[in-house]
Amino acid sequence: MVKLFKLFICCMLIFGLTSCSNNGASGANNIANGTYEGVGKGKGGDITLNVTIEDDHITNIEVISHNETTGFDSAMDTLKDKVLKYNSIDIDTVSGATLTSKGFLSAIENALTNANASKDMLAKAEINDQEVERQEIEEEYDVVVIGAGGAGFSAAIEAKNAGANVIILEKMPAVGGNTLISGAEYAAPNNWLQKEEGLEDSVDLMVEDMLVGGDNKNNPELVRVVAENALDGALWLKDEVGVIWEDELMFFGGHSVKRSLIPLNASGVEIVTKLNEKAQSMDIPIYLNTKATELIVEDGKVVGVKAVGEDNDYTFKCDAVVMATGGFGSNVEMRIQYNPEIDETILSTNSVGSTGDGIIMAQEIGADVEGMEYIQTYPICDPLTGTLLYFDDARLYGHTIIVNKEGKRFVEELGRRDEMSLAIKAQTGNVCYELVDQNGFVESKLEENHAQELEYLYENDLLVKADTLQEIAEFFGVDYEALQETVDNYNTYVENGEDPEFNKRSLPSKIETAPYYMIKAAPAVHHTMGGLVINTDAQVLNTDGEVIEGLYAAGEVTGGIHGTNRLGSCALADITVFGRIAGQNAAEYSK
Ligand code: ADP
Repeated sequence: MVKLFKLFICCMLIFGLTSCSNNGASGANNIANGTYEGVGKGKGGDITLNVTIEDDHITNIEVISHNETTGFDSAMDTLKDKVLKYNSIDIDTVSGATLTSKGFLSAIENALTNANASKDMLAKAEINDQEVERQEIEEEYDVVVIGAGGAGFSAAIEAKNAGANVIILEKMPAVGGNTLISGAEYAAPNNWLQKEEGLEDSVDLMVEDMLVGGDNKNNPELVRVVAENALDGALWLKDEVGVIWEDELMFFGGHSVKRSLIPLNASGVEIVTKLNEKAQSMDIPIYLNTKATELIVEDGKVVGVKAVGEDNDYTFKCDAVVMATGGFGSNVEMRIQYNPEIDETILSTNSVGSTGDGIIMAQEIGADVEGMEYIQTYPICDPLTGTLLYFDDARLYGHTIIVNKEGKRFVEELGRRDEMSLAIKAQTGNVCYELVDQNGFVESKLEENHAQELEYLYENDLLVKADTLQEIAEFFGVDYEALQETVDNYNTYVENGEDPEFNKRSLPSKIETAPYYMIKAAPAVHHTMGGLVINTDAQVLNTDGEVIEGLYAAGEVTGGIHGTNRLGSCALADITVFGRIAGQNAAEYSK
């Protein structure tokens, strides 16, 4: 019995204590055949999966649990295919889903560790990629929609509804674009929730708010189209597409009245998931990993699109194209070209797919652009990735101060996004440090609402919690004595109800209750207001102000709607309204 037990222990040590099932038949292999569990850290926390190994080959990967954002989770399918194909985990991460990719690959590595193996012990796969020749494929549609964000989906669904044969091209491995990663609130005047609350609103008021917010650099006709059709668009999303709107409204800055609908969980995931499901149910083909590169023009009319897929090159012939490729927030060169202030020192909250392709493609055939220099930045973002940080809610509640490395305040903490961003960019290291005390931390519900973000910030040394200001300052190398003086002065301003230095418009609480919390943050590009010039029918105009026949555009790729500055929650209204118009008109034109 004792002998048997010893044998069992030996086997356990050899074949890995954590293997889920293990037939022990290692033969001449490096790794014992079996199924092993592995855990890796993705964007949303742990990714847990089972990896099956046979004859030193990974033969299956089964994700057991994860908390990655819908849309980004498809990166794991892409990676799974590649890992199985190459029998390796040394493969590129999926662009736009870096953290999910890293988490997935490290979970497999962890499973190998649990199999008492390493990635180098996997057999070398015999792959001859050269065998597969790229094909030149030609297809024909009535309407080609470029871009699978909110505008592209809205256009495609409406074009199909109007009887057109339509396809969507998407260059990324997953649909959604910026729409997916936004909060996706939607400004709709005269909506049902306003009526329930007895709030007075009107189309005219929304027009006025957007014009004032955009410093009157917007095209008032386009603004009116958005405001007039916003409610109908929200109802269409609810009734036709199945989007669930929450039962309350949000009040965004620059609006005169509370008018913004909130999608389920205040996330673009709800919008994109439902649009995608709707498109699938209508049999609209969506070609992923397919990047449109060129518009085909004959006799001055757009008659097709060239595109590059993973394995094939395409020519899509069509009667009309809807350009819905989003903005250019992730294209540094293009940003600098139009606004040198927004250079490479500023990261971006945007999807990596927002590179202005549609603007460039259309310009190449004579399209006009407007407002390209108007680029909105958000001041408090992750200095490593550019992701918007919700720790900043504490600032919006009025509880924080923002200092530089020298320990001094340098801007009004409740000022305009653009002014704050430029001020931060001018500080040492192009970063700032935002400080809140325990009282402000609790009042702002940071732990309650953003626990996952806080965990990420701690892990990446971007957030420190300590009992003294000295410890806080030392963690980030901020000048402690200056910081102490800044806080003392600020507390006097709170007492007096007036900030003589920066005129902070709300001074609700002193910074005096330990523990203290400080984050390091930097501004990041959030939205590009400029883009292709369109008319109220979503037709793209050339530099002579004439319609380019067969070319329509909608969404962040267009200019003129938001002027110098987009108000929060107006983008969703814009992309839905103009996406639908572009789709309907492109379908009509194709008849
Ligand atoms: P909008 O809010 O205007 O709909 P999004 O950013 O949500 O904009 O969506 C734009 C989509 O277009 C993104 O998914 C992006 O990856 C895609 N896209 C951008 N350039 C191309 C291109 N050249 N070919 C195909 N898809 C593109």
